[in-house]
Parts: sequence; C-alpha cells; structure tokens
Amino acid sequence: MVKDGRKHIESLRDGRQIFLDGAPVADPIAHPAFRNAIRSAAGLFDYQAQPENLERMTFVSPSTGDRVNRMWQLPLSHADLVERRHALEAWAELTCGMLGRSPDHVASCVSGMYMGLDLFERHDPRRAAAVREYYEYARDNDLYLTYVIINPQADRGKGAGEQSDEFLVAGVCDEDAAGITIRGAKMLGTGCPLANEVFVGSIQPLKPGEEKYSVTAMVPLNAKGLKILSRKSFEAQASSPFDSPLSSAFDENDAVLYFDDVKVPWERVFVHNDVELAQAQWHAIPTHVYQNYQCQIRLMVKLRFLLGLARKIADTNGITGFPQVRETLGQLAAETAAVEGMVVAMEASGSRFGRYFVPDKRLLYAAMVLTQQLYPKVVATLRELAGGGMIMLPSSVEDFANPETAAYIGKTQRSPATDSIGRVKLFKLAWDAVGSEFGSRHLQYEMFYAGANMVTRGHAFRTCDWDRAARLVDGFMATYGLEVGVP
Ligand SMILES: Cc1cc2nc3c(=O)[nH]c(=O)nc-3n(C[C@H](O)[C@H](O)[C@H](O)COP(=O)(O)OP(=O)(O)OC[C@H]3O[C@@H](n4cnc5c(N)ncnc54)[C@H](O)[C@@H]3O)c2cc1C
Repeated sequence: MVKDGRKHIESLRDGRQIFLDGAPVADPIAHPAFRNAIRSAAGLFDYQAQPENLERMTFVSPSTGDRVNRMWQLPLSHADLVERRHALEAWAELTCGMLGRSPDHVASCVSGMYMGLDLFERHDPRRAAAVREYYEYARDNDLYLTYVIINPQADRGKGAGEQSDEFLVAGVCDEDAAGITIRGAKMLGTGCPLANEVFVGSIQPLKPGEEKYSVTAMVPLNAKGLKILSRKSFEAQASSPFDSPLSSAFDENDAVLYFDDVKVPWERVFVHNDVELAQAQWHAIPTHVYQNYQCQIRLMVKLRFLLGLARKIADTNGITGFPQVRETLGQLAAETAAVEGMVVAMEASGSRFGRYFVPDKRLLYAAMVLTQQLYPKVVATLRELAGGGMIMLPSSVEDFANPETAAYIGKTQRSPATDSIGRVKLFKLAWDAVGSEFGSRHLQYEMFYAGANMVTRGHAFRTCDWDRAARLVDGFMATYGLEVGVP
C-alpha cells in the first residue's frame, strides 16, 4: 500500500502549466529539462516501498492503517525524533544531499504546523480545521509538497503593499463563499515539476494594512491559473551522466510562480487576513524549526559527500601525503563532523511543545548561520584541492568512443590511484558539484534558501539565552569593586 515511484510519477500527469524557453511544456515527465529529476524524486518513493526499507522509512498512518513516510511522523520523544531523522538521512543519501526541496522539507513544515494547531484554533477554528485536515490528507497520500514563501525581488526597500503594482506580491484579490482568489507572484518555487502541491505563504513580516498578502494556502500545482515560470534547465544541457552526473539527475528546478487569479477553496486556506498569524505560524509553533532541522540533516549528508569527493581528489592526484593537504582534509573533516554534532545536539537538547518533541531552536539557528557561511568555504576548499584537474578534462564522453582521442586520454589522464576513466569520471563529478552551473546554483541555494545570512543571524539573536550569558558576566563583575591592588 505504500507509495512508490510509479504512483508518484502518475500523480504528476495533471496538466500543470510549466513554461520553459518561451513555450509551455506539454509533458514534463518526458521533457529533457525535467524527466531525470522527476525520476530521481520517484526513486525516493521506490526506496521507501522496498520491503527491507519499510520499517526505517515509513510508519503506520493512524487514520488509514497504511504505511506512509516518516517525514509526516510527529515525534513524541527524543527517540522518535532520531528514528525520524534516520529516514530523512537515508533519503538524503540517495541524492547526495542535492535535492534541497526533497519531499521531507515542506512535509516537515506542515507537520510542525500541525503540532501548533492550538495557535490556529485561537485565531480562527475554521483555519485550524483546514490545517488539521490538510496535514492528514497530505500524510495519507504521501504528497510531495514544495513552497513559495518569499516575495519577488523588486524594491526590497519597500513592503509588500508599497510596490509599484498592488499585485506584484501574491495576495488575495477576491473571496466568496467557496474560497479565495490569489493574484500575483512569489519569488521562487524549487521542485515544482517534481511536487504535487505548493504551499503559498509569507515568511517576510507584514504590517497592518497588508492583510491581503497574509495568506497561507495549499495549491495543487495544476491549479487553473497557476503559471510555473522555469529558470534555465541544467538537466537539458547535460549531455550524459558521465559528463554531468549531478545536473543530469538532480536538477530540481526553480521557478517564479505567478498566480493568475487562482481559486483556492476555504478548506485549503490556513491563514487569511491576519498579519499576526502569518508571522506566528512560523515562529510561535514548531513550523520553522522542523523545516530547517530537515535542512541541516540534508546538509550533513551533502557535506559528507563533498568530504568524500575531497579525499578522492587528493588520492587521485597523489597529494594526500603532503602535510598541508592532510591539514586541509582534516579541517574539512572537522567541519563536516561539527555539522553532524549540531544535528545530534539540537535533538539531544530538544524540548516538549505540547505532546511533541522539538529540536532545540537556539542550536538550530546557530547551525543555520554557521553552515551558510561554511558552505562557500567548503566549495573553495574543493576547488583549491582540485586545481586545474576539474578543467583538464575531455570535452565529453564521446572522446572515449573515438580511438584516436581515447588513446590520448589514456596517455594524459594519469593517476596513482585509478585509471584514466576513473580520473576523468571523478573530476567531472567534482566540477558538477562545485563548478558547473548546477554547482554554482547549489552555492547560491545553501547561502540563501532560508533567507540571507542577516536573517538567520536575526533568528540566532532572537533565540539566544541572553540572560544566561549576561548572568555569567554580572556574576563575575559582582566579585570585585573599586578596591585598589590585588587581594
Ligand atoms: C536556489 C534557490 C532556491 C530557492 N528556493 C526557494 C523555495 O523553494 N521557496 C521559497 O519560498 N524561496 C526559495 N528561495 C528564495 C529564498 O527564500 C530567498 O532567496 C531568500 O529568502 C533571500 O531573499 P532574497 O533572495 O530576495 O534576498 P534579499 O532578501 O533581497 O537579500 C539579498 C541581499 O540584499 C541585502 N539586503 C536585503 N534586504 C536587506 C535589509 N533589510 N537590510 C540589509 N541588507 C539587506 C543583503 O546584502 C542580502 O544578502 C530560493 C532561493 C535560491 C537562491
């Protein structure tokens, strides 16, 4: 009964409107810009459906008795949280941590929201009912959700309601007995060709008077009027897995979403006309913590992958024995372990929110601030280790098919650790991870997916235990006064 890849692919045959290179995409599942990323997403569901993975990856839905992914699990204890993390970690390993918006990201967000149902009850019981029923619906159908929660860049010096166009930023333009109508844009939806539905909301604070933008709603990606305006596809440019092993498989896509008067029924509306709830939904309940805890688990896996690449680059170039290189690798190893340490620590220091067990906010935000700064450093270290090896490469896999060029490849691509194919294969992978357009987009992703660094530093400021820190200073300062000389 558990959802598998075939079922997920079938669920994407829904007539959604994706635009690429000036034209609508008739069938994203077959399109060279999206098909492999969709298959990679389906591979996640295939993995959970394998009998040997069922226990690790899934749990029994309390409503249907069917098994669904642990991303929907609501941990009641530290042990539950760790069990759930093992499932998320196993999924991240399947994509080397390269799917930023894998299904467990927004599922974690909606699960965190469900843990905070009381907040919605206090604001409007009808909205609370929408969150409750949607969570159960999404869980029981093991939906792949993505989200758009940031407004388009236009004039960042002005608020949502002060832009040159009233509906530049997506907002509610109409409502009736059946629901609301959304008009306008959201900045970036990652994974739209891969996912079933999109969560539209606003994480940027809104002021009184900007109520129309304070909407949170769940919208199927084939909703009438929803336009998915894709960026350039890296998958379409990938000529073979050998040449572009990551771009060809994990280009999850990013798109501007335009809501061209999209109707949303009331039972899919979580927040409406309430600027206070639009903020509180993230930070007063476990929503933001759960979604970003998932990100740190994925990043932990991705850093392990990059660490493995670094070591193999060093071995392949015969430089591992140099003390400076060992130090560089040791530094990377320490940084990777530190991220793992932070994941384990935020779990171990977690606390209860009602019935539920939630990772520690302070440690989570510390990890977010530091990993945003760390990722560019890790990329720079890989580039430094690889030197020109990521460039000194045959133009494509076809050079191996031509006996003349293949012979020269054999003569020029040498390594103490592997043959010429192994060497070229590794350095092409390294380039795709940190140098290609795909790799460069990943750098931008890790720096910005949760807001600019000033935003995450703001969360660290907000959640710091300042009293505890200040008490130490005050306590020490109380031990001395204006005495002259040292007693
Ligand atoms: C690859 C990628 C994928 C993404 N996927 C998603 C997604 O799936 N869903 C989603 O909702 N969003 C997504 N985003 C968007 C992401 O949430 C935003 O990029 C992020 O919130 C930062 O906003 P911004 O890009 O508009 O940068 P800005 O907020 O405009 O910041 C850019 C820079 O401007 C300066 N700046 C801006 N405002 C201020 C200020 N008030 N004070 C001082 N300096 C300021 C800072 O130097 C800052 O670094 C994605 C982004 C990327 C890059």
